[in-house]
Amino acid sequence: MSDRKDKLTSMAQKSLTIALAGNPNSGKTTIFNNITGTRQKVGNWPGVTVEKKEGVIKKYGYDLKIIDLPGTYSLTPFSIEEIVTRDFILEETPDVVIDIIDASNLERSLYLATQLRELDCKVLFALNMADIAQARGGKIDKDKLSELLAVPVTFTVGNKSEGIDDLIKMAIEMAESESTDYTVRRVKYSNDIEDCIDKLQAFIETKIGTDLSYNHRWTAIKLLENDQIIKERIIQKTGQAGSDLIRLNESLRQHLLNRFDDEPEIIMTDERYGFIAGIIKEVYTGSTRQRVDMSRNIDMVLTNRFVGFPIFIFFIWAMFQLTFTLGEYPMIWIDSSVSFISSILMGLLPESLFKDLLINGIIAGVGSVILFLPNFLILFFCISLFEDTGYMSRAAFLMDKIMHLIGLHGKSFIPMLMGFGCNVPAVMAARTLESERDRILTILITPFMSCSAKLPVYIAIAGAFFSARAGTVIFLLYLTGIIVSIVTGRLFRSLLLKGADAPFVMELPPYRVPMIKSLVIHMWDRSKLFLRKMGGIILIGSIVVWTLSAFPDTIQYSIDYDGEIARIKNTIENETGNDNDSVETGRFVEKNAEITVLLKAKQKEKAENSYMGRIGKFLAPVFDPLGIDWRGGVAILTGFVAKEIVISTLGIIYNIGDGTQSEDFGRALREHGMTPLSALSMMVFVLLYLPCLATIAMIKKETGSFKWMFFSIFYSTGIAWISAFSVYQGGKLLGF
Ligand code: GDP
Ligand code: MG
Repeated sequence: MSDRKDKLTSMAQKSLTIALAGNPNSGKTTIFNNITGTRQKVGNWPGVTVEKKEGVIKKYGYDLKIIDLPGTYSLTPFSIEEIVTRDFILEETPDVVIDIIDASNLERSLYLATQLRELDCKVLFALNMADIAQARGGKIDKDKLSELLAVPVTFTVGNKSEGIDDLIKMAIEMAESESTDYTVRRVKYSNDIEDCIDKLQAFIETKIGTDLSYNHRWTAIKLLENDQIIKERIIQKTGQAGSDLIRLNESLRQHLLNRFDDEPEIIMTDERYGFIAGIIKEVYTGSTRQRVDMSRNIDMVLTNRFVGFPIFIFFIWAMFQLTFTLGEYPMIWIDSSVSFISSILMGLLPESLFKDLLINGIIAGVGSVILFLPNFLILFFCISLFEDTGYMSRAAFLMDKIMHLIGLHGKSFIPMLMGFGCNVPAVMAARTLESERDRILTILITPFMSCSAKLPVYIAIAGAFFSARAGTVIFLLYLTGIIVSIVTGRLFRSLLLKGADAPFVMELPPYRVPMIKSLVIHMWDRSKLFLRKMGGIILIGSIVVWTLSAFPDTIQYSIDYDGEIARIKNTIENETGNDNDSVETGRFVEKNAEITVLLKAKQKEKAENSYMGRIGKFLAPVFDPLGIDWRGGVAILTGFVAKEIVISTLGIIYNIGDGTQSEDFGRALREHGMTPLSALSMMVFVLLYLPCLATIAMIKKETGSFKWMFFSIFYSTGIAWISAFSVYQGGKLLGF
C-alpha cells in the first residue's frame, strides 16, 4: 500500500502503467490494439513462452504504458498464464488493472473479477462485448454492479472502439485518486473460514508485518487455499516466522477439513460462486441463460417472485410444526423421568428446607426447562439445515424486497433469522453491515425476532390452552415478532436513523446436500449453549425464585391449616378402624379430597404472602389491564435474566415439582383464572418485552452506547405492553 503511494507521488511526471486482465477471448487484445495502435512491442514474459504485448502512448498529458496480460479464468497458480498474470500484478504493481469482462458471459467473467478484487490493487471493469450481450436480450445494470463491488464500471465494444476513451479516462482518474474504497467490498466467506482468515491475518500482522509486501487478508486466503507459490515465498522472505505461519495454517486447514469434509479451497471456490450468483441476481435481467444447472433450476422456484415467498412461509411453519409435534415424544419421557427422580427424592429425604429447595426449587425450575431440550434440538437442526443446504441465503434474498421497504436490505435479515435461535449472536452478526446506521437499526429490530428461549413459554402456555392448534398459535406469534420488527424498522428509519442503505452483495451459494456430520456439529454447538445456560443462570435463577417464594416462612395463616388437616386425618383413622365396607371407602376418598383442597389453599396463601407474592402484588396494577395476574407478572419480571426462567418461575410458584408440560400446569393456570385470551396476552408480552440480560449487554457492546441500550429496553417493553393490552382488551370487546 504505502510503496504504491510513494510510487504515485514520485511519478508526478505522469507516467502510468495500466494492465489489461480478463478471460481468454474477452477482447483484451482487441482493446489493447485499439488503445496503442501501432506503438506496440511484442515479446515473451521472462522465462516462459507466453506472449507479452506492451505499448506506450501519450494521452491526456500522461505517458501510458499498457500491458496485455495473458487471458485467464482465475488467479489460482495452476497454469503459466495465471502465474504470469498474478505475479505481474503482485510484483510490478501496475497503477490500475482493467478487467475486461465478457458481458455476454457474466458469470464466468466475474470469477476472475472477484479474485482481482481480493488483491490489493485498483481494478476497474470494462463490460466488453456489450453489443452481443444486448443482442441476446440480457440487460446489465452497470451502476448497480459498480455500487455492489465499489468498482468503476463502463461498457465497451472493443471491435468498434466504443467506450475506449472513457475507459482510459476512468483508468487515469482511478490511478490518481487517493481513495482506498476499492478494498472494502469483497467476498465474505462463511464464519468458519473467516475465523481462520482472521487468525492468520493477526499472526501476519504481529509476527511478520512489513517483511511481506502482499495484502495480509489476501495472503491469509491464499494460505488457506494451500497456494504452494505463496507458501514458498513466505518462507523465502520471512524465515522462521514464516515457517510458524505455515504450521498455523496447516492446523487451521485441518480444522476446516474436519468441519466441511472437503478441501477448504473447494469450499471457498463454492462460496465465491455464491457471491457471484448473488451479484448476477441483482444486476442481470436477461432472457436465455446458456448454462443450466441444478442450483439455478431450484432457484427459479424458490426465489420466484410469486411462489418463493409462500414456500418460505411454509418452510418456517413446517419447522415449528415439526418442533412441536415431534418434540412431544421425548418431552414425555423427560417429563416422567423428572417426576420419577423427584418422587424418589420425596420419599428418600427427610422433611427439611433443603428438601424443599431441591425438589420445589432446583428440580422444578431446571426440570421445567430441560424438558424443552428436544424442541431446541429440533429447532436448531432445522436452522442448520437451512444454512447448510444454502436455503438461508435464499430466505434473506427473498426478504430483501421487504427489507428494502424499511430501508434495509436482505443482509440485515440474516441477523434477524439468527434471532430465532438466540439474540446474542444475532446482535453480533449485525457487524457484517458496513454502515453504522444500518447496524444500529438492525440491532434494534433483531430482538423482536422470537428467540428459542421464549419457545418453552409458548409451548407450555399454548400447549395448555390451545392444544391441537398450539403449533399455529406459536407460528403466529413468530410472525407477529417479524411484523413488529419490520414496522419498527420503518419507523426508526424515517425518524431516528435517516439515510440510504449501503449497497451489498447477497451471496447465493450453490445448493448442497447437507452433511449429517456438519448438521450435527452445528446443532450441537448451539444446544451446548442452552445446556450451559441451564447449569448456570437458570439454576441460580431457580434458587433465587424459590427463596423469594419460600420466605418469609412465618406467615400468619387465616385458618389453622395444619390443625384442620390433622383433625381430618384423625377422623379418617377413627372411622377406618371400623369395618371396611364400600361406604367407608367413599368417605375416605371424600376426606382425602378435603385435605387436598386445604393444602392448595394453604399453598396459595403462602405464595401470596411470600416476598415473591409481595413483589407481584406491587406490580399487579401494571399487569392487570393485560389480563395477567401477579404470578404471571412475577414470572415476566424474572424472565429478564433469561427468558426460559419465565416458565420455571411459574413452575415454582404453582409448586409443580415434576415439570410443566404435565397437565397439572394447564390445570394450575386455569384454576388461577388464566383464560385462553389472557394466555395469549401473556405470550404476546413475553414475545415483545425487553431483551434478556445477555442480549442487553451485547447491544451495549455493539452499539457502543448506553443510549441505544436503554432505548431498546424502554421501546420494546412499551410495545409489549401496548400490544398485550390491545390483545386482551380487544379480545374482551369481541367477546372472547
Ligand atoms: P483476447 O483473447 O481477450 O485477447 O480476445 P481478442 O481481443 O482476441 O478478441 C476475441 C474476438 O472477439 C475477436 O474476434 C474480436 O474481434 C472480438 N471482439 C472483441 N471485442 C468485441 C466486442 O465488443 N463485440 C464483439 N461483437 N466482438 C468483439
Ligand atoms: Mg489476446
